[in-house]
Amino acid sequence: MTATAATTRADRLVELLDAEGLDALLVSDLTNVRWLTGFTGSNGFALVGAGRRFFVSDFRYVEQAAEQVHGFEFRRGPRDLLAALPELLGDDRVRLGFEDQHMPVRRHGSLRELLGDRVELEPAGGLVERLRRVKDAEEQRRIAAAAELADAALAATLERGLAGRTERQVAWDLEVQMRERGAEALSFPPIVAAGGHGALPHAEPRDVEIPADTLVVIDWGAQLDGYCSDCTRTLATGEGLDDEARRVYDVVLQAQQESLAAVAAGRVERDVDAVAREIIDAAGHGERFGHGLGHGVGLEVHEAPRLARDAGQELLAGDVVTVEPGIYLPGRFGVRIEDLVVVEDRGARVLTSLPKSLTVVG
Ligand code: ZN
Ligand code: ZN
Repeated sequence: MTATAATTRADRLVELLDAEGLDALLVSDLTNVRWLTGFTGSNGFALVGAGRRFFVSDFRYVEQAAEQVHGFEFRRGPRDLLAALPELLGDDRVRLGFEDQHMPVRRHGSLRELLGDRVELEPAGGLVERLRRVKDAEEQRRIAAAAELADAALAATLERGLAGRTERQVAWDLEVQMRERGAEALSFPPIVAAGGHGALPHAEPRDVEIPADTLVVIDWGAQLDGYCSDCTRTLATGEGLDDEARRVYDVVLQAQQESLAAVAAGRVERDVDAVAREIIDAAGHGERFGHGLGHGVGLEVHEAPRLARDAGQELLAGDVVTVEPGIYLPGRFGVRIEDLVVVEDRGARVLTSLPKSLTVVG
């Protein structure tokens, strides 16, 4: 990250802190630390407030911090970094926000002891996440690159077919293909689920051979330069698929395409979700679409915003979200089709390049 990007992000955070009546925020969640400072190590925190830009890490990371972190004053702390806080906060009374959704109760207790009465500790989780939500051009580029890598990895995996291999073999193949193409990690362990197993939205691959003439749900993602991708395709392992499976596939495909077409800045999250849900309801499968339509993707594979029935915010240009309706018939099969898209003013820019019409793989 350039010094300018780091400065801008910290400046935007200070604006939020002002609005919340906080003097400073202790940023301890490592994903938030990375977004804010560029630091990719495993021990560090940032302290940000008006006139305060500190980054603290231990002796192992002195060089790495010098390379990655710009626009913050570096302080080398002891292994328990929080012990460096009192000095950074000075003698004034301070309202200090902390990331309550990431702070263990025990750590909060020692923080309170360490800081004493002078510092008012305020739960202030979600502030950095709010800023992280909209992706800048560089972040969009990284996510697109992760998606491209993941697409190529699936294509290579499918060249060796599906039927006759076990779910686990296919999942491992896909993992190797992603790694060999430069993925630094996986967004999550791949899902490869055939037939009735595909009716579990979060199925774990089994040591079970994939049969012919069935549907196979594959959900996978690569992490590249810190950013995740996320995609699902449902494939057929033969032309002898039963009619119900084809019908359900068509319903999910229509729901996916129409809800994707409804994505644009200014649209309300639940309204986009409703587009897919109405199509699936009308086909008589409303009960079988048990999850939300999609979620934000960035440094984490699940982040803001949320396309779901109970989500009422407007989409913003620069949000990166999945659009992934599904229908799951217990004991029989599941269908999910998921694309990763960038929200733009007039619509969605799709980052997934794989075909969505029902594809037969031997
Ligand atoms: Zn997925
Ligand atoms: Zn997803």
